Amino acid sequence: MTTIDIPDDSLFGLGNLPYGVFSTPGSRPRVGVRVADFVVDLAATLGDEVFARPTLNAFMAQGRRRWDEVRRRVGELVSGEVPDTAVHPVGEVTMHLPIEVGDYVDFYASEHHASNLGRLFRPGSPPLMPNWKHLPVGYHGRAGTVVVSGTDIVRPCGQRKAADDPAPAFGPSRRLDIEAELGFIVGTGSPLGTRVRCDEFPERVFGAVLVNDWSARDIQSWEYVPLGPFLGKSFATSISPWVVPIAALEAARVDTPPKDPEPLPYLRETEPWGFDIEMAVEWNGRLVSRPPYREIYWSPAQMLAHMTVNGASTRTGDLYASGTVSGPRQDQRGAFIELTWGGAEPVDINGEKRTFLEDGDEVVITATAPGSDGRRIGFGEVRGRILPAVDDDGGR
Ligand code: MN
Repeated sequence: MTTIDIPDDSLFGLGNLPYGVFSTPGSRPRVGVRVADFVVDLAATLGDEVFARPTLNAFMAQGRRRWDEVRRRVGELVSGEVPDTAVHPVGEVTMHLPIEVGDYVDFYASEHHASNLGRLFRPGSPPLMPNWKHLPVGYHGRAGTVVVSGTDIVRPCGQRKAADDPAPAFGPSRRLDIEAELGFIVGTGSPLGTRVRCDEFPERVFGAVLVNDWSARDIQSWEYVPLGPFLGKSFATSISPWVVPIAALEAARVDTPPKDPEPLPYLRETEPWGFDIEMAVEWNGRLVSRPPYREIYWSPAQMLAHMTVNGASTRTGDLYASGTVSGPRQDQRGAFIELTWGGAEPVDINGEKRTFLEDGDEVVITATAPGSDGRRIGFGEVRGRILPAVDDDGGR
């Protein structure tokens, strides 16, 4: 038997206990929980076959009472002696995509980000569109290209046309960017023809992950009118492998920024669902930004209420993300198009000037939040490296 030693400064103490899907060499992917620098095999210890599955979906579908019960049992389990064969050093496992993604929606809920992009994409016009403070603006993304942290990202090809180009050209994106976001995973879905109210958020949503919404700005700026993002976003979206339960974020809860004007009744919250989560973005190992999630205008409860107000159903495994998290300061911007102001203000990365991503560049997004008992909890990381474009045949 093993007793897991949890250092006082570990971001994966008993107040966190995030779930993920892991494998060891020669074994099948199954559900584990992270404790300090170890992964505890829940398939081998809890005696429920939902943990032997290669995704969290079956467990998530069991609902909030079961999530709470399992969280209690896991806390007891890892506080005592655990069978040796169920404990693996985190460096010796492979982490997999933790969920089978149902639908994927991406919002645009940071006022700082939306205003900065408004200034960059529509100079001379008001930075926010008239709808922005009345509803959480979003779009439906491509669920099938959500990948787990560590997956290499092939530079996308596509059409691009700068404002003064006479015609579009085809080729690898030259303005490849990141978006540092927080993602929320639906645990229990809702039927077609019904709405999810804001106060149902903790019953419906299982947990949160880090998201990097890779974005090809040159493809995006040519294609997005009038229907929004399409191929400039859909080539890949990376998520972190550890799903932090909403219950672990209780000490991180804060009010979202004041709402002016007051939103329509279905978007009014009786409880605050903002979170004081500090994110960090590293570009080739250099810390370039610390986006503050607490600045996000719309809460994930409001996003879910809005996403279903037309009667759209939700399913276990649906993923919805906040949109780029940016704060008011230059060093709090969660996308490089903002950080370098459209490429006009390069940043110094280890002696090299950078505006957008070069082949071989690697981006790592991390985050921490206040946990129970005064310690901080961590989300782990979402990491991705850019590979050169393939099939660049000029679009023939
Ligand atoms: Mn995004």
